[in-house]
Amino acid sequence: MVGESSTRVVVATGNTGKVRELAEALARLPFELVAQGALGIEAAPETACTFLENALGKARHAAAESGLPAIADDSGLVVPALGGVPGIHSARFAGAAATDADNNAKLLRELGTNMPCAAYFTCCLIYIASPADPAPIVATARWQGQIISSPRGSNGFGYDPHFLVPTLGKTSAQLPLAEKNRLSHRGQACRQLAALLAENGRTRARQR
Ligand code: IMP
Repeated sequence: MVGESSTRVVVATGNTGKVRELAEALARLPFELVAQGALGIEAAPETACTFLENALGKARHAAAESGLPAIADDSGLVVPALGGVPGIHSARFAGAAATDADNNAKLLRELGTNMPCAAYFTCCLIYIASPADPAPIVATARWQGQIISSPRGSNGFGYDPHFLVPTLGKTSAQLPLAEKNRLSHRGQACRQLAALLAENGRTRARQR
């Protein structure tokens, strides 16, 4: 919703797909979302060891650089049988310049014959009103599945072709985008953040 009373909120991502998905989930709130790239803000380095801290670091960076409230996310694949990897290193599991194919090949090498293997995608999504906001609003969600050895499907990105959703008998790369968004870690976190922000607005309204 963009109106006279809407608040501009910077989204700490260069991914326009993520901004669109967020805008859809937050459509009922009086926010005007603007991608940090559109404000000339560079991505923050991801130096922490949890999704939560990385998301918070990105949000703080975007809020400090823009002077606006900020939303940031961090997500990835977690394989408990491998001690949690690729985890926060999901995007660069096979090295700094790794492609999705490189990352998937490394994942399959590490799993060896231990497949199908339980895994989940997770997403942490954070809203802060300012860089020093003492009470960030935090949404976090998981999407449970299994890693399989043979890739299936051509939608999506990253680990999708090897991520089987057992209840559907399909990988996330075989799902149309709308269905993936309905089920995925990111879709769930977006809707959770929307509900938390709406509740926060109502609570503050009651306090006035
Ligand atoms: P980001 O934090 O959303 O940019 O995700 C980091 C990395 O996690 C991506 O580069 C992918 O390798 C992996 N990842 C996160 N979400 C998904 C997904 O929905 N499908 C496949 N891979 C994902």
